Amino acid sequence: RPSLEAVSEARRLADASSGRVVSVLIGPADDSAVAALGAHGADKVIRFAGDGFAAYSSESYARALARAVETESPDAVFVPFTSTGRDLAPRVAFLTGGGLVSDCASFDLADGRLVAKRSQYSGKMVATFTWASKLQIASLRPNVFALVSPVEGRACEVVAAEADATSRARVREFKAKESGRKELVEAQVIVSGGRGLKAAEHFKLVEDLGAAMGAAVGASRAIVDDGWVSHSMQVGQTGKTVSPSLYVACGISGAIQHLAGMSSSRVIVAINKDPEAPIFKVANYGIVGDVFEILPPLKGKDVRSIYE
Ligand code: FAD
Repeated sequence: RPSLEAVSEARRLADASSGRVVSVLIGPADDSAVAALGAHGADKVIRFAGDGFAAYSSESYARALARAVETESPDAVFVPFTSTGRDLAPRVAFLTGGGLVSDCASFDLADGRLVAKRSQYSGKMVATFTWASKLQIASLRPNVFALVSPVEGRACEVVAAEADATSRARVREFKAKESGRKELVEAQVIVSGGRGLKAAEHFKLVEDLGAAMGAAVGASRAIVDDGWVSHSMQVGQTGKTVSPSLYVACGISGAIQHLAGMSSSRVIVAINKDPEAPIFKVANYGIVGDVFEILPPLKGKDVRSIYE
């Protein structure tokens, strides 16, 4: 999804400046990935698919993207600000001599050049950037840029390309950890819990509500630091940035660092027993009450019909 968001934003800007969008797809991917790039606005997809690109490698992937930059001479390069993108974008900037602005949250065009904005210090200020270099490289914060409506079968040229795939580091094995949980960043409904739940064993209340709602489950940093749940579930400045249609915060105070990761959610529901809790400043719906009274009756209920 973050890649499709980057393509969608590139399409929006290309349309505004009579430009083209070229996607670069490195590593193994099936035809549906290529089709999705085309449907979301790519005019051309350059594929690097040799054995050397089977697993992500900083050196070879950066070289491949830099090679595409060399042949296409774009005005701008967009990379998702994911863990891979955070590693890749600075390397490509180094190889191509482009300037890099990381973690961008919006773009405008002024005289054909990009103007990027990103929030800093947990959303306390918004910084505006322009590039001194000709080549403008940017990484895009996931879940902030809207996807364009895909147009199936949109014309898109696909070309195979080659680049030096050697690398001084070798990935021997890639083991995905099976969490059995829904991926937070891509979820449309998220239920999160915080220290208001008082003890690790009560987090089950949040998981039960998540199951009843078909939602992904998140957490505040306080309970990640206390070891109740894994860091992969943390939402916020030092966790994940999410932007679901519905975010339900249970026993979370709404510290600025938590808000930094979820305040762009479309509808926010907060359950907190303190009416002065900062989470209520961003919530669309607030329930002032005790999670131990509000959550248990929802267990096992099919609550989807309430919000769908
Ligand atoms: P608390 O602040 O302790 O809030 C608990 C809330 O539960 C309170 O509002 C209380 O009224 C309510 N409550 C208590 N009992 C009940 C009950 N029975 N029923 C209903 N409500 C109840 N935090 C993040 O979440 N994500 C981050 O990425 C993050 N990054 C950070 C980075 C830095 C550099 C720093 C300094 C901090 C960061 N934090 C982050 C921590 C953040 O400042 C807060 O400490 C944290 O979010 C608080 O978590 P909490 O809301 O669960 O706990």
